[in-house]
Amino acid sequence: MAKIIALMNQKGGVGKTTTTINLAACLAVAEKKTLVIDLDPQGNGSVSLGLDSSQHTNSNVYHAMIGRTDIREAIYETELPNLHICPSDNNLSGAEIELVSEFARESKLKTAFMPIMDSYDYILIDCPPSLGLLTVNALNAADSFIVPMQTEYLAMEGLAQLINTVKLIKANLNPALEMDGIVLTMFDGRASLHKQVSEEIRRHFGDKVFQAVIPRNVKLAECPSFGKPIILYDIESKGSEAYLALAKELIIKDRAQSVETQNGLPEV
Ligand code: ADP
Ligand code: MG
Repeated sequence: MAKIIALMNQKGGVGKTTTTINLAACLAVAEKKTLVIDLDPQGNGSVSLGLDSSQHTNSNVYHAMIGRTDIREAIYETELPNLHICPSDNNLSGAEIELVSEFARESKLKTAFMPIMDSYDYILIDCPPSLGLLTVNALNAADSFIVPMQTEYLAMEGLAQLINTVKLIKANLNPALEMDGIVLTMFDGRASLHKQVSEEIRRHFGDKVFQAVIPRNVKLAECPSFGKPIILYDIESKGSEAYLALAKELIIKDRAQSVETQNGLPEV
């Protein structure tokens, strides 16, 4: 069964899309069958993986969520054999309004996922920069979530609201939802502010902060315009190194957790 991870932070420009795409590509390189769900109507993730919006105007995540198409019809291949994408476009911004009056509107994505749960090791959802219905759908469908966070002044502002949303989802919709952790992004080791902020976040969240830190790296900003993840654009870059380290850390954590779960099973 796939592990479903939502990459969320209601702030824009913190590295959600960059982290989703590049973490997914590194998981794929590690032979994990991985699907990216682009749940942001801006569709940046889809473009970053080389998709042209004209390719999927009639079959993308929007159509899968409103039940107009089977999600398998809305999944596309990428340059990496183990990496697929379910893209989005501007239509998705209408979904929040269209779904408001629908029965089980928070479960549309979860229901759409059913036919593909056994086809992937990881499903990564790139959330929009809000805590609205799309993000609620992502958190309801997910096993866990990752919060990309920029090491800038006011990084933790808004976090209380984010945690409150997660608490509401756990209490009302998805009690099993867990936090994988916080990923520090766009880190500049020469800036004392970045060091201070990252220390403060680590003090606050302890081992819930991934050891792998994503540096500010111009190659990471360049690769979306070539429709390639960093690992295919420049394998030697600091950005590649960082996302490979993040993928490794996640895989090791997940393996340890699954051993723990197995050990926890009663003898039969
Ligand atoms: P979000 O999805 O949270 O809005 P993005 O991933 O789109 O954020 O990142 C915002 C902008 O910053 C994009 O232009 C992206 O290319 C750039 N960016 C993201 N991470 C890095 C990084 N580590 N180094 C340099 N530029 C980055
Ligand atoms: Mg984004």
